[in-house]
Amino acid sequence: MKNLTVRVKLTLWFSVLIILITAISFTLMLVISNSVLKTNAKEALQSVIETNAQEIEYIADPADEEQETGDQYIVYKDGYLEIDDDFLNESYGVYTALYDRDGSLLYGQNPINAPVTAGGSILKMTYGGEKYYTLCYALSGENLDGLTLLGTINENANKTVLTRIVNLSLIVLPVLALLAIVVGCLLAWYFLSPIRKITSSAESISDGNDLSKRIETGKNDELGRLADAFNKMFARLEKSFEKERQFTSDISHELRTPVATILAQCELTLEKERTAAEYKKALNVIDRQSRRMKNTVEQMLQYTRLERLETLPDPAPVDLSGLFKDIAEEQKIRNINAITIESDIDDGIILNGSSDLLAGLINNLISNAFRYGRENGHIFLSLKENENEIVLSVKDDGIGISDEEKQNIFNRFYQADKARTSNGKYSGTGLGLSIAAAAAKLHGGHIDVESEVGRGSTFSFIIAKN
Ligand code: ADP
Repeated sequence: MKNLTVRVKLTLWFSVLIILITAISFTLMLVISNSVLKTNAKEALQSVIETNAQEIEYIADPADEEQETGDQYIVYKDGYLEIDDDFLNESYGVYTALYDRDGSLLYGQNPINAPVTAGGSILKMTYGGEKYYTLCYALSGENLDGLTLLGTINENANKTVLTRIVNLSLIVLPVLALLAIVVGCLLAWYFLSPIRKITSSAESISDGNDLSKRIETGKNDELGRLADAFNKMFARLEKSFEKERQFTSDISHELRTPVATILAQCELTLEKERTAAEYKKALNVIDRQSRRMKNTVEQMLQYTRLERLETLPDPAPVDLSGLFKDIAEEQKIRNINAITIESDIDDGIILNGSSDLLAGLINNLISNAFRYGRENGHIFLSLKENENEIVLSVKDDGIGISDEEKQNIFNRFYQADKARTSNGKYSGTGLGLSIAAAAAKLHGGHIDVESEVGRGSTFSFIIAKN
């Protein structure tokens, strides 16, 4: 059963159900018709006997009466009993017999020799292995006292009709059941055909390893929605595979340069004996490139971790004002390029989130302001809160960013001024802003940038309050 297709299973269940329904209908029909048959027999018995009772009359002399052909006359007492021609001798299976006070049969038939009783109610008796109903009816009227009409009817008197119905049902019901099974089978095939289509499309997508293909969705019913769900899953898979592929290519591209530099440096240095100063110089190059690789790998890991998170794992209230002030103090003492830091940080601004991620974000914006600031320049830090939002900004008066570059700076590994960042003292990885943007997003905010080439940039971390 486990290995059967849904279509076969459906058809089997459906067939069992139809056969069961047919069998139950047939049994019910038999039971009901049997009971109807019995009730009908009793009713026929009662009705025929009552009718016949009206058709018997005592007359002194038939000559005094208007005679009709078919009327019967039986000598009784000093006169006659007139049995009207409307008297039903054998009707609807009912036999009627007329008995006198002594129990002698005067007229009619009693084929089962039923006893004459006080009467009034229908009795049941068995004769020759069959069941019969009998009814004794005491006549009343002038000179009729003591006469009894006895009616008998076979319980199954009108069975021929029932037998016909049963025989007909025995043919019709199985034919109908068969027809229902065939129709059910066709319906199962028809309604399951979209599933076959979905399966073959999904198989061709997985066989061909082509996640850009999609399943035809067709109608907007349950199966259409299933195909839609599959397509969405393929789209997500395609996107994540593409991301994975892009990331691997980016990372190998980023690591290729420092590895190549280290190898070249080693080869060159090992070519011949060098002085201590030359070895030191070579080791410095190797050291710088190794650090760059270490930074790239660390930041890449951090970025991947953040990008995979949908929400912050353990958010807690963070004193953003205190954190920003502490970082500003630490940065002031770095005294890079003789840049001075000024700040206007409002107190008591609390944000629900991760203090580590927020510190990383702020540090990144300030490091960039140093890195791309100008000598003897300024960095201006500000934190403000109004009823709609919290705005943390880092402003510098450095090299600025062109409009064209602005669109790319949040892309990972993007570095607008590569020559300066990779060779300079503060070489970056091109991942800082991507990490900062991912952290901002996890805190329900985003990073905005305003900049003018040659005049400086302002990076703002904005969190809307709801
Ligand atoms: P990087 O490690 O190169 O700093 P980021 O992701 O932090 O990587 O920044 C990406 C690029 O955006 C930088 O290479 C630089 O060109 C530009 N950028 C970032 N901050 C500033 C800034 N304050 N002024 C000018 N350019 C900036």
